[in-house]
Amino acid sequence: MALPGAGPRVVVLAGGVGGAKFTLGVREALARRGAPEATVVVNTGDDLWLSGVRLQPDIDSILYALAGQNDTQRGWGRAGDTERVNEELQAWGAGWPWFTLGDLDLGTHLARTGWLREGLTVSDVVERLSRRWPLGVRLLPMTDAEADTYVVLEDGSRLHFQEWWTRHRAALTPLRFENPGLVSAAPAPGVVEAIASADVVLFAPSNPVVSLGPILAVPGMREALLATAAPVIGVSGIIGGRVVRGMADVCLTAIGVETSASGVASHYGARSGDGLLDAWLLAEEDAGLADVVAAAGIRPEVTALWMTDASASASIVDTALRVAGL
Ligand code: GDP
Ligand code: CA
Repeated sequence: MALPGAGPRVVVLAGGVGGAKFTLGVREALARRGAPEATVVVNTGDDLWLSGVRLQPDIDSILYALAGQNDTQRGWGRAGDTERVNEELQAWGAGWPWFTLGDLDLGTHLARTGWLREGLTVSDVVERLSRRWPLGVRLLPMTDAEADTYVVLEDGSRLHFQEWWTRHRAALTPLRFENPGLVSAAPAPGVVEAIASADVVLFAPSNPVVSLGPILAVPGMREALLATAAPVIGVSGIIGGRVVRGMADVCLTAIGVETSASGVASHYGARSGDGLLDAWLLAEEDAGLADVVAAAGIRPEVTALWMTDASASASIVDTALRVAGL
């Protein structure tokens, strides 16, 4: 039995629902080893202002999942939520008719917005939100800056990522994605330090463009990843050439990346070149692409990648730790 706190120090970069499923596995795999809590650096590109409150969908997805408060049927929001306030907002013509805000969820947004208005940073707020339930990991936002993702369309118009996804279901062809707020942003306090002192850095199988993309675009983030002595290991969110859920295929096509496990690996790139990855976990369905990944200078590891429950995700994490020599 390992001494408590004696196991590997793990940093995870993650988006929302896929990131949450992966994080549940990280928590389980590390708890079994008696390792310290992982640090999870979460995308805040999905954040938005709506009806006067600040929403942080990816932070909340991970928070609720770790706390066991998430709606597993619907796939987002709080279990057992109601929509009374939302109906009232709709009656006023406030907010977005296509964007539902649950009553319990609104409680989170009000708490967060109140704290922000009192002058707390986004990191402070995430730390406060993390106190209510024992999460078993440390959540950090990627940055304290407001860095909402915008989608630029072929006609030059621009809309918030949430409008593009939730209202239009990714049906408007994107030209590119941008995070104007990142220009003068820095990684949130603790992020660079966690990466520097990590034993392994894991990329969750999150959307490579609109979840991990904004995280990696925070000025200083790539430098931190290139500088760490820890191996950087990614997990494919593409299985058998298809996204498991969501619209990563539309996003990848927009930035000229093939929707395949090897395409995404090459997009992140080999650390031995000018990229970020030491190793890449591919699904068994994509075993035929392992040679392509190896040829790109990234160590391929073929394993089962379906995150059907926390223990399935924990097995993926165990494999990653083994590849890291931990
Ligand atoms: P979002 O912010 O809620 O969209 O979630 P993320 O960006 O964190 O994750 C979305 C990605 O997770 C999608 O590209 C999916 O293909 C991927 N994903 C979802 N479920 C699974 C799974 O069971 N296994 C793997 N390998 N990837 C998954
Ligand atoms: Ca997201």
